[in-house]
Amino acid sequence: MTAAESTGTLGELGESAALARIFPRLPAAFAQLLGPGDDAAILAAPDGRFVVTTDMMIHGPDFRLAWSTPHDLGWKAAATNLSDLAAMGAVGTGLVVAIAAPASTPVEVLEGIADGLREACSALAPGCGVVGGDLSVSATLTIAVTAFGDLEGRAPVLRSGARVGDVVAVSGGLGVAAAGLRILFRDGVVDGEPDAAAAAALRRDPLVAFQLAPVPPIADGPVAAAAGATAMLDLSDGLARDARRIASASGVALDLSAAAIGSHEALVGGEDHSLLATFPAGRGLPPSFRVIGSVVPGTGLLVDGVAFDELGGWDPYADWNGGVG
Ligand SMILES: [Mg+2]
Repeated sequence: MTAAESTGTLGELGESAALARIFPRLPAAFAQLLGPGDDAAILAAPDGRFVVTTDMMIHGPDFRLAWSTPHDLGWKAAATNLSDLAAMGAVGTGLVVAIAAPASTPVEVLEGIADGLREACSALAPGCGVVGGDLSVSATLTIAVTAFGDLEGRAPVLRSGARVGDVVAVSGGLGVAAAGLRILFRDGVVDGEPDAAAAAALRRDPLVAFQLAPVPPIADGPVAAAAGATAMLDLSDGLARDARRIASASGVALDLSAAAIGSHEALVGGEDHSLLATFPAGRGLPPSFRVIGSVVPGTGLLVDGVAFDELGGWDPYADWNGGVG
């Protein structure tokens, strides 16, 4: 966006005027007893418990402004947090959003983030809204979301409940977001730098679109919980890495079928936010889940009965090279 198109930067408007522009775009939460505007919000907890999670997105390791629109960023920030709630079997009720941005940021960027938050809540967790937040200044655009969820009377689904004999099943795609990122790194770059025009032309590719604004199977988390899932998580760091987390927490091994997984990228690609769950064998699975393996005695991850030790997936400390782009 050029300066001529902007109707002000955060530095020109100041915090109060910027917030006045953003507030009307934020989604209201059904569970909201008191929304933004006071020192803190008040949120109902109908179940008597809150499920709480937080996830932070930093320009550089987590997104590139040349590739992601502000709307993408708001959408993805909501989707990733709602996915963590879903992985516990909870339904999102409220988000608190803290954003730090350079003073030179056009207020339209914040409005776009707010629009993305609103549309993701509406599409993925109707009734969930933004109940509060904070705005601060930083050289690096940072979006931190804390999400609250309600278990609606169900038992939470932990990572530690998988039992030998359970089936391993997944809802959602495998390796989709990683394939999109690979395309962006290959074709969305000019002279080695992420390029907005190149990325815009790639958005028609559903793999790229999913990487920039993922649509995880949020509604399937509570469905899996109601169907008796014994363990569950959302696949943020790749199937191999995350399957090992269930195995480790449960004191078992997960044996996955290479044919059911499909490809190496499906095994190690991160950011799909699909739901990986274990269910007692011989019981019908929710329709969106497909079986990809079984829980067996032992430790770690097996593929077709053979230990799979490749790390793969995403580790922010090991895998980010410090470039901002
Ligand atoms: Mg998670």
